[in-house]
Amino acid sequence: MTSKYVDIHGNPRWIKIGVRDNFCCAYCGVNLLNDVISMSSAQIDHILPQSKYKTYKDEDTNMVLSCYCCNQIKRAFDPLEKLSEQERMLITVETLDSFREKLLSICRHYVIPLLEKKKKILYMSNEVLQPLGVSKKSI
Ligand SMILES: [Zn+2]
Repeated sequence: MTSKYVDIHGNPRWIKIGVRDNFCCAYCGVNLLNDVISMSSAQIDHILPQSKYKTYKDEDTNMVLSCYCCNQIKRAFDPLEKLSEQERMLITVETLDSFREKLLSICRHYVIPLLEKKKKILYMSNEVLQPLGVSKKSI
């Protein structure tokens, strides 16, 4: 999910989060400063979806850089649902940072297989189009 406040490329908060995350998508790892298209597709994602967890919506710890595609896949996926009740009780604004990598890992396990599915569709589309003389460049 994106937020109007942080979704402006080049704004100080975007740069701060970008430097922390090496300007790579937190899920697929693509370098978001490869080119203008990659940079323009970069979004701020909330690890704990802002639609569900208002307390964490303005916390830098809860934000990651994401490419457009991964952000669209993740949307409101809630990694907390994969944790035990006991672990969930331990997460607060103060402790979120220590759970960050675990939560990101849960999100990656959700996002990456769906991203692979999209890549397969792309591959299959190119397989169908190639015999017809339609190359990727002319699409
Ligand atoms: Zn990505």
